[in-house]
Amino acid sequence: MLNIHEYSSILIHGGRVIDPYCGRDEVADVAIVGGRYTERAGAGAREIDAAGLIVCPGLADMHVHLREPGQSHKETIETGTAAAAAGGFTLVACMPNTTPPIDSPDVVRWIIERSRETGYCEVAPVAAITRGRAGKDVTDFAALLEAGAVAFSDDGAGVDDEAVMLAAFQQAARLDTLLIQHCEFRHISAGGVMHLGEVSRRLGLPGLDPRSEEAMIERDIDLSRKTGGRYHVAHISTAKAVELVRRAKREGLPVTAEVCTHHLLLTDEACAGADPNTKMHPPLRQRDDVDACRRGLLDGAIDCIVTDHAPHTSAEKAAGFLKAPAGIVGLETALGVAADAMIATGAAGWPELVRWFTAGPSRALSRPPHPIQHGQEANLTIVHPTHRWVVRPDDFLSKGRNAPFGGWRLTGQAVATIRGGRLLLTSHSATDCGLIPI
Ligand SMILES: [Zn+2]
Repeated sequence: MLNIHEYSSILIHGGRVIDPYCGRDEVADVAIVGGRYTERAGAGAREIDAAGLIVCPGLADMHVHLREPGQSHKETIETGTAAAAAGGFTLVACMPNTTPPIDSPDVVRWIIERSRETGYCEVAPVAAITRGRAGKDVTDFAALLEAGAVAFSDDGAGVDDEAVMLAAFQQAARLDTLLIQHCEFRHISAGGVMHLGEVSRRLGLPGLDPRSEEAMIERDIDLSRKTGGRYHVAHISTAKAVELVRRAKREGLPVTAEVCTHHLLLTDEACAGADPNTKMHPPLRQRDDVDACRRGLLDGAIDCIVTDHAPHTSAEKAAGFLKAPAGIVGLETALGVAADAMIATGAAGWPELVRWFTAGPSRALSRPPHPIQHGQEANLTIVHPTHRWVVRPDDFLSKGRNAPFGGWRLTGQAVATIRGGRLLLTSHSATDCGLIPI
């Protein structure tokens, strides 16, 4: 449950302010008046004791499936953004594999309006690269940008045809917008449902060859080199793929990449019980790949962490590993899972983790920064970094229960988000922190 309050003034006391936009990491008070950061709080301000908590710019997830329009049995903009806010996100970019797909200005506008009416965070629509996501005719990028699209992707599928992708890159370069590719050549992945390896052989399930991802990234980096178009690898998952992006960056190409929380923690061994809640595209890979994704974040080859939040109904997921749709929900577990992978292992600290959820995605999407600075509109997240909690999918605000982390103990959870004068408290951890009186 989310508790929503509007205040003319808010004063956050004594939190650790981590702001990657201005390189800040210090204990300080943050005051908000009329929805903007100010020197001093107003009279009668709502006070929040943030001792021991982290105060950072609002988190962003640039890869989320909100399922509307057309698939509201899986999720709605209302439930998906409630899950996002509960996870600490103030912005999500939503993918176009809806019904109809986000391939017309009308659908882009509908999503933005709907999110303003029913949403709990900002929603940035990613429009389709091709009409109907069919991989044949490139959409009208200029019209879609004008309507409010922030980037382009056929996510759920890669654009196989090189001539089509070249045309997309030429438009992207001309309009200085971003192409986000779901990297998977279908003639190579060939119906695979999990990583091609020992576990897929043991289970007798069709394996998904990692070269399907790597070959598409190689082709697209080449197209970016030829056209100058900005290119972002969605849900990177293999060691070689990370190396390809690293080299492209060294070459100075406008290439970025994201990694999913689950690809930082789980391997295909998690699929050994054939639980459909461990089925996703790209699939869970091997130890070397997980290690390479972590290293990629640390050395900057990978820019940000995403969830690829992909809700499905329990009935759909009950179809068994072979037939169940791919995808898992992640918005409400993202921070804890990422902290488990990157902080509990000693690989990184909260300043890095905050960067991968704020400045990282914001730069990849060319969004304006939202530092915690006087005069800026308030847009922040409060995190309890040491809060230990148990993942209970039945408590999710998302309609989806399809998570592989049910019953896991995680450390670190969002307590609240603030946008303007609007305070959203996520009840579980906010209660534990005493922000909501029991
Ligand atoms: Zn995808």
